[in-house]
Amino acid sequence: MFRKILIANRGEIALRVLRAARDLGIRTVAVHSTADTTAMHVRLADEAICIGPPPARDSYLNIPNIIAAAEIAGADAIHPGYGFLSENARFAEIVEEHRITWIGPRPEHIRTMGDKMEAKRTAARLGLPLVPGSDGPVTPGPEAARLAGEVGFPVLVKAAAGGGGRGMKVVESPAALDGAIAQARNEAKAAFGNDAVYLEKYLKAPRHIEFQIFGDGKGHAIHLGERDCSLQRRHQKVLEEAPSPVLGEEERARMGRICADAMAELGYRGAGTIEFLWEDGRFFFIEMNTRLQVEHPVTELVTGVDLVAEQIRVAAGLPLSVSQGDIRLHGHAIECRINAEDPETFAPSPGEVTEWHAPGGPHVRVDSALFRGWRIPPHYDSLIAKLIVWGEDREAAIARMARALEETAIGGVRTTIPLHQRLLGEPDVRAGRYSIKWLEQALAKPKPPA
Ligand code: ADP
Repeated sequence: MFRKILIANRGEIALRVLRAARDLGIRTVAVHSTADTTAMHVRLADEAICIGPPPARDSYLNIPNIIAAAEIAGADAIHPGYGFLSENARFAEIVEEHRITWIGPRPEHIRTMGDKMEAKRTAARLGLPLVPGSDGPVTPGPEAARLAGEVGFPVLVKAAAGGGGRGMKVVESPAALDGAIAQARNEAKAAFGNDAVYLEKYLKAPRHIEFQIFGDGKGHAIHLGERDCSLQRRHQKVLEEAPSPVLGEEERARMGRICADAMAELGYRGAGTIEFLWEDGRFFFIEMNTRLQVEHPVTELVTGVDLVAEQIRVAAGLPLSVSQGDIRLHGHAIECRINAEDPETFAPSPGEVTEWHAPGGPHVRVDSALFRGWRIPPHYDSLIAKLIVWGEDREAAIARMARALEETAIGGVRTTIPLHQRLLGEPDVRAGRYSIKWLEQALAKPKPPA
């Protein structure tokens, strides 16, 4: 087992990794920018090393400085968390070239899945059902028009290198196609340094259902059920739950097995998430994330498996501590992402946290790096806390989440807590009747009087 892990991240996920490491008796090294000198991940780690100025490209994305920090501290492994360098195959290679263990999938798998077109080709080869679309990149012209006609309008133009809900354009009719492709290529070039775009059928009202998988890198893989992440704004997840309210046990077992078998065939190592859109009982693969997800705790609460500890074990060459037969879903879990944002306009709301009271009680988990007096820097993601609850069933989980949100007090900055409170009161949400479109449509409607 490792003696010391460097955590190449910040915020709640740095703490999450730190806690798993500590539970396993492993020392931790935090890295931080000058904006995070007093951050909680710095305060809780055994050692901390400054890796640069506030902009992420100069610090949390600064590969030479992170590698230097690992060497100075004598870390024998690096955990990337999510975001930042977690899906950078070159970084994973550089880590390994320095004889430091990369706590993550093999670089070639990160690379394959990082290109969404390549990911779809691989998924098809492994037997996963795909969203109909172009097999490769498209450019403006008659060939794209022919493909779009085959797929059927509306179509979605997607960037091969896209991520974080960016780089997508809906095209309603043939006349708008060439313009949309040209614009998407320009935007993709600017945002991701890669102008390849492809076409996909635009599904009207699907759900987003993703399977958590885990591979040991030696040809064995399991699944840990699914998460439903259909409540989204701008293609970004807002609230997630496990299990999905629409999947039966048989369907889960069937689809989970398909995912696990695909990962076993790939020889996949570590944690991964296979994302699907689901419509009228059918699954359509959209992408695979080769890392830990923000919403992983809901899976932990319904399976009892510590996914980060499993990542560390597998990276150390140990077998998975659970087999498929050990995975039993128990009850229901919900996660609310609490962002430092205006709950109406969603404008970021950085600043000093003047009050922080976390909710508690049975089956309430708070993943957050907040503390009173912390000045939330404007340079990074606005996620400041994840509130995760468990209940015997979905109704109990919803009631407990409402109670936990009520208890939570965050002063000094605006947060999305009121949005979550509103969501949990909505009959459609309570009934589990929502697609990926539901939230934006609800937000467009006038608010009911208080
Ligand atoms: P990213 O990597 O940017 O998160 P994804 O491919 O995972 O992109 O898609 C993000 C979200 O965009 C999905 O959860 C869904 O809401 C929407 N989306 C993606 N593909 C389609 C599609 N073919 N039809 C309708 N919505 C889609």
